Amino acid sequence: MGWSAVSVYLSAAVRAELAAAQEQLDRHTPSSGDDCCTGCDEAGPCAMRRAALRVFGRYGCPPRRWPGASRPELIAGGGSWAGWLTPPAGDGLSNG
Ligand SMILES: [Zn+2]
Repeated sequence: MGWSAVSVYLSAAVRAELAAAQEQLDRHTPSSGDDCCTGCDEAGPCAMRRAALRVFGRYGCPPRRWPGASRPELIAGGGSWAGWLTPPAGDGLSNG
């Protein structure tokens, strides 16, 4: 018997701490342009961001929104797959 730390129970206090850290991450995000924090204008991952990341590391929980985790281009690809589902016209199966 022995589950890995993935399914560990988190107390309310821990969850509150993680929620606060997540909020901190949302606020302190390095801009994709010049890599400066959008919250406090520090270059690179600022002190607030690093502190928040440490909280997630301590409990082994990844943040909800991780930079690069979402791949919009995979969804926005589109394509014409709908054509596959169109039945051929006049195949003689219709009951007149
Ligand atoms: Zn910051």
